[in-house]
Amino acid sequence: MRVYNTLTNRIEEFKEIKKGMIGFYTCGPTVYDYAHIGNFRSYIAEDLIKRYFLYKGYKAIHVMNITDIDDKTIKKADRLGVSLNQVTEEYIKATMNDIDTLNILKANHYPRATEHIDEMLSLVEKLEENGYAYRKDNSIYFSIAKFADYGQLANISKENLKMGVSVDTDEYEKEDAQDFVLWKGRKEGERFFWSSEKFGEGRPGWHLECSAMSMKYLGEHFDIHMGGVDNIFPHHENEIAQSQCSTGKKYVNYWLHVQHLIVDNEKMSKSLGNFYTLRDLLEKGYDPMAIRYLLISTHYRKLLNFTFDGLEQAIQSLKRIYDFIFTLKGLKPVDGETGEITGLIEQSELKFQEQMESDFNISGALGVLFDFIHETNLKQGELKTGDINNILDFIDRINSVLGVIKKEEEGVLAIEIEEKIEQRARARQEKNFQLADAIRDELKVKGIVLIDTPEGTRWKHEK
Ligand SMILES: [Zn+2]
Repeated sequence: MRVYNTLTNRIEEFKEIKKGMIGFYTCGPTVYDYAHIGNFRSYIAEDLIKRYFLYKGYKAIHVMNITDIDDKTIKKADRLGVSLNQVTEEYIKATMNDIDTLNILKANHYPRATEHIDEMLSLVEKLEENGYAYRKDNSIYFSIAKFADYGQLANISKENLKMGVSVDTDEYEKEDAQDFVLWKGRKEGERFFWSSEKFGEGRPGWHLECSAMSMKYLGEHFDIHMGGVDNIFPHHENEIAQSQCSTGKKYVNYWLHVQHLIVDNEKMSKSLGNFYTLRDLLEKGYDPMAIRYLLISTHYRKLLNFTFDGLEQAIQSLKRIYDFIFTLKGLKPVDGETGEITGLIEQSELKFQEQMESDFNISGALGVLFDFIHETNLKQGELKTGDINNILDFIDRINSVLGVIKKEEEGVLAIEIEEKIEQRARARQEKNFQLADAIRDELKVKGIVLIDTPEGTRWKHEK
């Protein structure tokens, strides 16, 4: 499997630390608002990659942090005059619901920053012991001059490092690489703080949480760390510094970063009126699986331009897959199996893997799927029972990676339709055409069209 590693700036052969296992960390949401489709672009790209590893038989331990304390969450709680929990609980719940709606596989752990303050403090302690941290005013800072590899991930030249200039904000520009805050001393009037015997009252810097929580659940050295490209600097650069300087070991082997999402060729922003959360799109009546399809269908390292035309196209592509499955299930084939179909499945699956293993080339992989659907449709008349089962199993395996067909929904729907079709056939046999027509109309309302053929009734989704 070949993946592009931001750390080395090149495509590398993937090799896991422990055979058959991957430790997988993805930067999670800051829970002060609903997650937007740009966030979900990252989560879904990460999900696709994780699913491919699972499809290949790897076991994965996936950790996604929840940032429930930082400048933004505090600002909102202060503005509303409520506790931090009152702000964060609502958005944690909403994000988890959205993750489910988009068929993103659950992580094994969703650690919250506020529940890992002790782990973060002991990390600061270690950094101080090892000589990488210093105190200034009430806060503790990391000295980037002490870490020779600082800037490696973000490709920052040493001349751009501002040694000895310390900032206590969490976000700053690459041109201003400088000493960053580990523990922010409590300022007057601040409502949210923890007390540390050693470092006094304060709260952790944002970067610290991902180092502390990833190493707690995945160990000091693990396989894959993902996030959006905007996380590369300063967030991930700082994570590497904190982790490696506290343990003396390499932190992460492969850093994978997901490109931005833009809307109608512009940066998504509330002021431009092109800012969408998942619930905004669902309110407009869009199928979450079409949204997922659209978000996976651009390679994760390419800029994704979200448009409503694109979403319509995603709906059409998805319908082709659904129709294919529904048509297959409606066939009344003879028993047996044709070698030709078995061969086609084997070839297609190899091609699918080849594409995915070339740094997750999703367009190529989807192309293989649609070629397969096209070729199989041409042979519809020759398919036997065994072929159909083999094809459906194959689609299942592909879907275990793509995740664009939610199993339970499809299952219920298919069974329901089959029953109605049988009822209608009985009604027609009994010359009860009124009932037969009523059933046809009932299905039509649900977007299902019946096609009567000499071999029986088939059905498909209305275009
Ligand atoms: Zn992070």
